[in-house]
Amino acid sequence: MHSYTLIAPAKINLYLEIIGDRSDNYHELAMILQSIDLADEIELHSISTDTIRVHCNHPLVPTDRSNLAYRAAELMATEFPNTFAKYGGVEITITKRIPVAAGLAGGSTNAAAVLVGINLLWKLGLTQSELEELGATLGSDVPFCVAGGTAIATGRGEQLSPLPSLNNIYIVLGKYKSLEVSTPWAYKSYRQEYSDSYIRDSDNLAIRASAVHSGEMVKAILHQDAKEIAQKLHNDLEKVVLPAYPQVLQLRETFANAGVLGTMMSGSGPSVFALCESQEHAEEVKLQVKTATKNEDLELFVTKAIAHGIQIVS
Ligand code: ATP
Repeated sequence: MHSYTLIAPAKINLYLEIIGDRSDNYHELAMILQSIDLADEIELHSISTDTIRVHCNHPLVPTDRSNLAYRAAELMATEFPNTFAKYGGVEITITKRIPVAAGLAGGSTNAAAVLVGINLLWKLGLTQSELEELGATLGSDVPFCVAGGTAIATGRGEQLSPLPSLNNIYIVLGKYKSLEVSTPWAYKSYRQEYSDSYIRDSDNLAIRASAVHSGEMVKAILHQDAKEIAQKLHNDLEKVVLPAYPQVLQLRETFANAGVLGTMMSGSGPSVFALCESQEHAEEVKLQVKTATKNEDLELFVTKAIAHGIQIVS
């Protein structure tokens, strides 16, 4: 085959705890990540010139080297120069449906799709864990995007332990189109405000003195209980993003007033998601929030938890 089409799902953070500061400038994290069926489509074509080309239907997504999908192809070309020379270049077409700079790992999932797709296009035969390892060099969320489903992510987010998949969990997701939150800004602000209370260990890892609570969320997931999961939602980055972005706080409150099971910002925001009882309930909540906010800038999606990462369509 000279072309592949792949589906690249977004993720939400059911749980995000900042455990401490690492000497490599990243944060030590305890996260629980969940793939959702809101997804981009990625087409890969072999081309005869030995170049990488990216096209995207979204005006705010770069198509040069700063696109994570481009960097994923470049990484494969560097790692496997002989295969790159044999098969020629790659044209990548991204159809964006995942809101950009939203805390939904849009760029990371595109990069994951390119790794999975080039593995097929160039017949490399890499295993999922080898693809995850390559992905970790591009970004902390990329390994999870390759694997997908439900997982605990530790380290800087790249070390994964799978959890049982969540079934029939319906979610409403809201994002103001014109609002973007920079992930580096959110983590930097958190460090500035909270790292004084950290304790330094023998590996020079500065660890927060408080207990880690992700175990409660893991229990809720094992019980497959949406209400229990909703009660255990947690995101430390809300502490810095909500005060700086009152619209995000307001959206969170609007969801809470619409009678959802629970609501939380995803990743570094500004997306806010809400867990609902059923698909019908999620549709009702979407309508209620749309009516309450009366804001054309607010995009709302009904989505659900899925058990997979990158999927090959053809
Ligand atoms: P994360 O949840 O991993 O922090 P995010 O969902 O907050 O990611 P992205 O949608 O990945 O954010 O976008 C972050 C920035 O990356 C954007 O400003 C965008 O210009 C740039 N970017 C680079 N490549 C892509 C891509 N393939 N898709 C979307 N944005 C990309």
